[in-house]
Amino acid sequence: MIRVNQIKIKIDLERAFSKEEVKGKLEKHVCKALRVDRGQIENLEIIRRSIDARKKPEIYEVYMVDVKLKGLDEGKVLKKCKDKNVSFVEQVVYEFPYKCVNVAGTKRPVIIGSGPAGLFCGYELARNGFKPLILERGADVDKRTEIVEHFWETGELDERTNVQFGEGGAGTFSDGKLNTMVKDKDGRGRAALKIFVENGAPEDILYDAKPHIGTDILRNVVKNMRNRIIEWGGEVRFESLVSEINIDGNSQITSVKVVDQNTGNTENIECSEVVLAIGHSARDTFYMLSDKKVDMKPKPFAVGFRVEHPQTLINLSQYGVESPKALPAAPYKLTATTDEGRGVYSFCMCPGGFVVNASSEKGRLAVNGMSYSKRDGKNANSAIIITVDPKDFGSEDVLSGVEFQRKLEEKAYEIGGGKIPVEYYGDFRKAIRPDLESKTSDGLVEDRTNTPNMRGQYTFANVHEILPKDLNEAFVEGMEKFGRMIKGYNSDGALVSGVESRTSSPVRINRDESGESINVKGLFPCGEGAGYAGGIMSAAMDGMKVAEFVAAKMI
Ligand code: FAD
Repeated sequence: MIRVNQIKIKIDLERAFSKEEVKGKLEKHVCKALRVDRGQIENLEIIRRSIDARKKPEIYEVYMVDVKLKGLDEGKVLKKCKDKNVSFVEQVVYEFPYKCVNVAGTKRPVIIGSGPAGLFCGYELARNGFKPLILERGADVDKRTEIVEHFWETGELDERTNVQFGEGGAGTFSDGKLNTMVKDKDGRGRAALKIFVENGAPEDILYDAKPHIGTDILRNVVKNMRNRIIEWGGEVRFESLVSEINIDGNSQITSVKVVDQNTGNTENIECSEVVLAIGHSARDTFYMLSDKKVDMKPKPFAVGFRVEHPQTLINLSQYGVESPKALPAAPYKLTATTDEGRGVYSFCMCPGGFVVNASSEKGRLAVNGMSYSKRDGKNANSAIIITVDPKDFGSEDVLSGVEFQRKLEEKAYEIGGGKIPVEYYGDFRKAIRPDLESKTSDGLVEDRTNTPNMRGQYTFANVHEILPKDLNEAFVEGMEKFGRMIKGYNSDGALVSGVESRTSSPVRINRDESGESINVKGLFPCGEGAGYAGGIMSAAMDGMKVAEFVAAKMI
């Protein structure tokens, strides 16, 4: 296969090109680069599409394509063309390495959690004949959507089913960004994207540099995946909380105790392979695992706030125009290091999105970001977070990070009276760094007309009272630095809400090279909660990897 890279197509800001027009432009470029005729192209597959706005407002789409030629020796074609952007490639295609033809007599693998890690693990195991049982504490996606909408409207939280718990996991009410920093040398990433497409996601996620599907599409994908798992002989039980794992004298897992979340009835399910894909918010489950002496360590994570700006301000900075018709709402990525050496960075940025109340415990409040596939909300939002490590937690306990998060969330709940607390950045900065007052001066400084775009009730409050002083100072230092990267980022009118505390897991549940817990046989820590992923894609990829570990053990 021949790969042609760096094909640039200038974007008409007023009108998006149709798929056919793009195909025509790509073919024309490929013919010129390879010195072939259109008729000699058997297949042209887009591998990657990104946006180059370095010369804004002149903006380009940059493509990488793989080309299969008809009746031509590709080696000879390559030899003739001296273009550094043309090369020979062999596509890595992922294949699940095991098949189970008969599970009779074997206990089926149990997966705890139906977030991307558990769901993709279950999908691969079911597709290959291992008939997994998925146990999910929250409700199925339809019931869950009603419960979450009710919470956002009334503030009445259901601790059993919420933005963190239920079918699809924490990613269901998300922005649905599907990019990851994890290298894809085994092809699992591409295979995961193909599974998304097989289950209803649009095909362009296979090649977009920043793939995104939005919560509306994700909810359907998750449901379709569940139905496939069931068709292939797997089972998915909702509102089924695993409250205990049982381990015998040989450190082998023997069963899990399941509590029906509606009736309170309990059941013991015998099993020898259990995938622990519980996410980063199952604090009761972390405590249960700690009581069972499962090997785990505290780990650094990050905390901070959600910051909202008008999307037009971000578009102007990234594209040079406020509302280009042919381009998606612009994303951004920002990082800085404070004078004290703390990392401050943007995280889970949602163009055209909503800030959501993502709480899962009564009396505690956490925020996050979500968007729909169109990303047409009026604001851009992003977490701006600061790294914290066990030194900040104030205790040596393995779960000290959990208690640190809880304290911040209690404060956020208290200052907002249960509603999302919001503060204009100008007021926040004045409270923390009054010395900086005279230093900000652009046209946007006095503009406090923008309003929050949120799912969940909100109120204006002293957000600057949530974090400890040093973290607040780091946040302001970061914001001021970001104001030099995006004009207006540190304006008085930026909206700051909190607290952003569920950025990644506060613990790592250690596993060995065969994927099992260091000290409990048959227990397979997986995904974000175990510290092996951060985000939907990496959790999905880890789920697939753990499916291989489980299958290898069972076969
Ligand atoms: P989770 O998705 O957290 O799934 C764990 C599941 O296990 C949950 O459904 C939970 O109910 C269940 N569970 C826990 N304990 C038990 C138990 N004892 N018994 C039974 N079931 C249990 N990431 C991105 O990459 N892109 C985004 O755009 C993005 N946006 C986000 C927006 C929001 C609002 C939130 C909250 C998160 C977002 N994330 C995003 C992060 C992403 O959702 C997570 O990284 C990902 O879901 C982690 O996957 P996971 O399967 O490891 O865990």
